[in-house]
Amino acid sequence: MTPEEAMRRLSRSRFRSSFHLKEEQRQYIREKGLDTIERHCRDFVKGRLADADPVNDGKQTPMKGHPVFIAMHACGCCCRGCLEKWYRVPRHVPLTKQQQEKIVRFLMLWIVREYKKDLKDQVSESESRRP
Ligand SMILES: [Zn+2]
Repeated sequence: MTPEEAMRRLSRSRFRSSFHLKEEQRQYIREKGLDTIERHCRDFVKGRLADADPVNDGKQTPMKGHPVFIAMHACGCCCRGCLEKWYRVPRHVPLTKQQQEKIVRFLMLWIVREYKKDLKDQVSESESRRP
């Protein structure tokens, strides 16, 4: 599956496509820079997904906070169950370096696209959330 095919499949899932970067995460990316975000991304994939049986699997990825967490949910890369369901990555087997890197590339692709998305929807989003 190419990254484009994967993105298309994800866009058809109401749950997956409901995840977007909010202003707090955009701000965080602006402050840290994309290189640092990518380093965090690599650490999270290694620490939360790469083991054969990650600690707390299925619940290891918060639904808010770090932009990489949001990307992991949006991309179906939040736990080994979702990796199996979306990408047929077998569970209970450690991820190879190459698999980890592929996931990192894909998550960063999503993050960069979201980050660069039209400023207009960012404004209307924060307007509509105002109490
Ligand atoms: Zn999951």
